[in-house]
Amino acid sequence: MHLTPLRGVMQSSETASVSESRGASVSLLLLRYNVTSSGMSTSFPAFPPQDHDHCVCLNTALGRAKARCLEQGIKWTALREQVFLEVATSHKPVSAYDLIDVLAKSGKRVAPVSIYRILEVLQSAGLVHRLESRNAFFACMADHECAAHTITLVCEDCDRVIEAAAPDAYRAIAAATQATGFMIRRTVVEVSGLCDECARRRAATC
Ligand SMILES: [Zn+2]
Ligand SMILES: [Zn+2]
Ligand SMILES: [Zn+2]
Repeated sequence: MHLTPLRGVMQSSETASVSESRGASVSLLLLRYNVTSSGMSTSFPAFPPQDHDHCVCLNTALGRAKARCLEQGIKWTALREQVFLEVATSHKPVSAYDLIDVLAKSGKRVAPVSIYRILEVLQSAGLVHRLESRNAFFACMADHECAAHTITLVCEDCDRVIEAAAPDAYRAIAAATQATGFMIRRTVVEVSGLCDECARRRAATC
């Protein structure tokens, strides 16, 4: 991934404070720049082609989810699997209410509190991540440590999301806040831009 503009963009980025339901203060940086996939780390896949066979992604993600739950002693129930599969059904984020609607259409009425609890379990296992800027959730398609310094890339056109490793971005944030005496509790970096395919499509229609 081409990250050279990041440092410059971060200096002019907007910083917003978002309150979560748990009351924790979140530093949310909304950055804008175009993303290319050259040099993307193998453990963090690039945006797949729009017409790719998503069954492969889904099966890999499901296999990893089951293995990780087994490893961490987390019970893999039919409902947890159904929720995970719905979140992982595409590379786009889904809200908790989207999930409730989809499950209701398949004849399963699940209370919001139960959906949130399942999402919390899946998040704590690192299988699902929350997209703070959209109040939605997406399935992790990369095999990485929960504490990995990742940034989330969101395509404004196709709505798809991927993650990328960016330890330098976290180091820059830590250095920038150090002098202020500010204690970082959690850093979220979500980058809004265009995936390769959407950027090419836009360029072709200009
Ligand atoms: Zn896919
Ligand atoms: Zn992830
Ligand atoms: Zn796109």
